[in-house]
Amino acid sequence: MASAAVSICAIGCRGQTNGSKTAKENKAPPSPNSEGPSYLALERSGELKRREESLWEVLKSCSLCPRECGVNRFNGEKGVCKSTAELKVHSAGAHFGEEWPLVGMNGSGTVFFSSCNLLCCFCQNWEINHRGDGPLRSHDELASMMLGLQAKGCKNINLVTPTHVVPHIVKSLRIAIKGGLKVPLVYNTGGYDRLETIKALDGIVDIYLPDFKYQDGALADKYSNGAKNYPEAAAATIKEMYRQVGNLETTGLTGIAKRGLMLRHLIMPHNIAGTDKFVKWVAKEISKDTYTNLMDQYRPEHRAFEYPKIARRISEKEWKQVLAWAKEAGLTQIES
Ligand code: SF4
Repeated sequence: MASAAVSICAIGCRGQTNGSKTAKENKAPPSPNSEGPSYLALERSGELKRREESLWEVLKSCSLCPRECGVNRFNGEKGVCKSTAELKVHSAGAHFGEEWPLVGMNGSGTVFFSSCNLLCCFCQNWEINHRGDGPLRSHDELASMMLGLQAKGCKNINLVTPTHVVPHIVKSLRIAIKGGLKVPLVYNTGGYDRLETIKALDGIVDIYLPDFKYQDGALADKYSNGAKNYPEAAAATIKEMYRQVGNLETTGLTGIAKRGLMLRHLIMPHNIAGTDKFVKWVAKEISKDTYTNLMDQYRPEHRAFEYPKIARRISEKEWKQVLAWAKEAGLTQIES
């Protein structure tokens, strides 16, 4: 998954959350996490245990994501993501290339999971996501990674490509809570999630960081391994994410993210990503004040050179057009 490269204010100001209110924004929920991340209350009530148990059941005929492969991952069967019920983690560390509200002084506490359910032909991390590089890890080890990142001063646990390992994350989170974890989880996804899975994360995840990659199902089909229902799936899950956490809230002098939706959108050459439609959709269906990172760092990687339209970076002209579309749509919280 791509990370934000440069953080400058193009239209709005970094981390501001006090722009003009829209009718939809007024429906966003108040933050319940003034005492810490919301998963702590779920664990105390016993609800987190119940969620963990029901998420593990899904792996018996896997429908964690919109691929709905129906394989029994406990028996070693593999679907499109090529993952069994075992957990593989490529690496973990403090990462300074993410959006500023996630990074702060000590970096975002990033965990890179091996494999992926989307499998874009232009993947920048294809060794991890397509080839599945990374060692098998126990849940105790994942919990230790989370606690180690917190001990380093990271203000969040940034779960990169989490969709196919949601049950493992919740199980490890429960172990980490016992060890004193108290920083929010960031669900850093390529945007191809299943609505039921995101609903199961209500109160577990405080910061959602989805990339809305395509507006055209035929293009998602072509460039992301047959994911032709990507636009509908991403639209439905991002609305649900916003319903759960609302606009970005920050805390402290440095403006560290505490809770909220942070959208990403990777701009592609020839407007393959449908950026004009994307910015209009955000303004109309989510909120004009949604924190939105328009990412200009696309570069052809992996098999992108097999497709002439995506075999180059975006041009200066395309970038200026994107900024004009965002301004025209009325988005106020743009990072680029
Ligand atoms: S998580 Fe993997 S096995 Fe499960 S539905 Fe998605 S791609 Fe298929």
